[in-house]
Parts: sequence; C-alpha cells; structure tokens
Amino acid sequence: MKIAILSGDGIGPEITGQAVKVLNALGESFEMETADVGGAGYAAHGHPLPPATLALAKAADAVLFGAVGDFKYDNLERALRPEQAILGLRRELGLFANLRPAILYPELAGASTLKPEVVAGLDILIIRELTGDIYFGKPRGVRECPDGPFKGQREGFDTMRYAEGEIRRIAHVAFQTARKRGKRVTSVDKANVLETFQFWRDIVTSVHQEYQDVELEHMYVDNAAMQLVRAPKKFDVIVTGNMFGDILSDAAAMLTGSIGMLPSASLDANNKGLYEPSHGSAPDIAGKGVANPLATILSAAMMLRYSLDRAEQADRIENAVKAVLAQGLRTPDIFEEGMTRVGTEQMGDAVVRALA
Ligand code: NAD
Repeated sequence: MKIAILSGDGIGPEITGQAVKVLNALGESFEMETADVGGAGYAAHGHPLPPATLALAKAADAVLFGAVGDFKYDNLERALRPEQAILGLRRELGLFANLRPAILYPELAGASTLKPEVVAGLDILIIRELTGDIYFGKPRGVRECPDGPFKGQREGFDTMRYAEGEIRRIAHVAFQTARKRGKRVTSVDKANVLETFQFWRDIVTSVHQEYQDVELEHMYVDNAAMQLVRAPKKFDVIVTGNMFGDILSDAAAMLTGSIGMLPSASLDANNKGLYEPSHGSAPDIAGKGVANPLATILSAAMMLRYSLDRAEQADRIENAVKAVLAQGLRTPDIFEEGMTRVGTEQMGDAVVRALA
C-alpha cells in the first residue's frame, strides 16, 4: 500500500506529522512518500501542483493531504496560488465524492454553540458532489445583459448543470455508504425552483430502486439548513450538489464546535481517495505547536476505512482519539476549564499511546 503524504503549508507539516506517526504505530507496512504541494510546491518548483507531486498522487493508493495556503502568496496570479493545488488534485484524480462526517464526541459537547442536548452524540455524514454544478458549469463570465430591465448593462453569469451520470454515481455512493451506517439518506435539492435539481431528484429516486433497504427522503435546501441547526441528529447521510454541499457542510462542521476535529475524504469511482482535515493551513498558529492534529489523524482513519480496506485499523484510531479525549487532553481550540492543555506533538503521542 502506497500513501502519498502531501503536507503543504502553515500547520500542514505539523498535523500530517502526527498522522504519519499514528499510521506508523499500527504495525502495518505502508510505503509513504512525501512531495511538495501548495505554497511549498510553488516555492520549491514554481507551481502549487508540481508534475512530480501529481505523478506521486496518481501512483499512490491514497493521498493524505495537510492544508495549503499562505497570505504571502495572495498576490500571485490565480493559477499559481497554493489553493489551486487542491482543485487540480480533485480534477486530475476525478475525486467527485466529498465525504464529511460531523461527529460530536460526548466529551466535547460543551464546545458546540448549540445546546448539548441538541448536539451530544451527533453522527451525520454529508456527501457533497465535488466536480460539477454551478462551480464548474460553462458558459460563465461577465457579458452584456441581453434582456430584461437591465438590458445593455454588464452582468455576471454562471451555469448550473448536472449530467445524469454525475447524479447517478454520487447517489450510488450515498446509498452504499448509508448501508454501512444508519440506512437513511436525505437528498437535498431545490426542486421547487431549479430545473437542474428537479432532474437531480428524479435521478436519485430512480437510483434508489436498487437500494430498497435504505430509506430515502428529499428535502429542500432551505429546510435542510434549518433542520441542521434545529434537530441535526435526525439526519444520517445527506447527499447534495456541489454548492449546497459547500454551505451545508460548513454549517454542520460548526455544530461540532471545532474545525480542528473534522476529517474529510474525497473519493473517485474506485474508492481511491484524498484525505484531509476540513480546515485550512491556519497561518495564524503555524509553527507554534498548538494546532489540533485530530482532524488529520481522523482523516487517516477514513483513509484506512475507505481506500485501504483496513476498517479494524480505522476503528483502532477512532477509539484511540476517543480515549485521549476521555483522558481530558485538549489542544487550545477545544480547551475547557478542568482539562489538560496539550500541544500538537503531545496530542499525537497520546493517540499513539492509546493505540496500544
Ligand atoms: P483556516 O481553517 O486555516 O483557519 C480558520 C481558523 O481556525 C483560524 O483561527 C485557525 O487558527 C483555526 N484552525 C484551523 N485549523 C486548526 C487546527 N487544526 N487547530 C486549531 N485551530 C485551527 O482558514 P482561513 O484562516 O480562512 O485560511 C487560511 C489559509 O488556508 C488560506 O490561505 C486559505 O485559502 C487556506 N485554506 C486551505 C484549505 C485546504 O487546504 N483544503 C481549506 C480552507 C482554507
């Protein structure tokens, strides 16, 4: 099993370092190879996604990604900015399914902005289509407005579109994933207003014929946003398009209190994937040894489960994370009175000890 380790910028190297330590402690013989990406890729090779990095990511069985981005690159032309690396990897590796679990460990219930009884024990999974929708649809741009009351003025426009095959494949991911969890899928759309999402609803309903053991409900996105905050525990798996998923997954992330706890997976059609924490490179705390490495360690667990067929090892890591939280160890982002404050390295070491 070959794992590409792309640490990136800011806190990226610190947090992936802890995840690598945990992977090494499992007693498996993974081959791990590192490469520069993001600002580090630009600094060393003149491009955020150097050809050698892309080749490594393609050759590997899975990619463990830290984070990219640094304000010092903000004035570069868009194509050379660090963030282009992650977009390029998604495109080049065909990573169309983004899985973001939002889990609230009972020990952290006080860290959420919602009442503990609303969120304690939360365990939902948002599956976001990642390579289509209005984010990629063409034509797009700024043009002269052709009609209506603003005719002749400049207007910005984008194109929302989803092909049948694109909807089918993400629906299959959702139903298959739900089978391994609570067997319930909520498909989120805006079928009452948008043709694209009426079509989405029809196709998801037809794919559901193959998964009669899984319950399917449809929900409009505005209602889903409300329900996520009102009664988030009623969901199991949510599947939705790129734009709605972008917004809903960030809202769900905050239900759990800290972005430093949230892993993610982006999968292709064969379950090869890129695994990364949901947060960015956090330049404000980079190099200080205080970043929470748990989102990256939990991303490594997702990698073992979804791409490397090592579900028992994934369970071991997830149980070790629960154990260190139960011991009261907290990085500053999740610290509460009465707990033990630890840094990035100490948290990684504690997870390694808990594995044993
Ligand atoms: P961010 O997620 O990096 O940071 C937001 C806040 O959360 C900061 O206060 C940060 O200190 C804190 N934070 C993030 N991760 C943490 C962790 N593991 N432990 C403790 N605290 C943590 O978002 P931002 O500040 O908006 O962006 C910073 C850079 O990251 C930008 O260049 C942005 O483009 C980039 N970014 C990259 C990715 C990615 O690599 N996939 C995703 C989002 C943002």
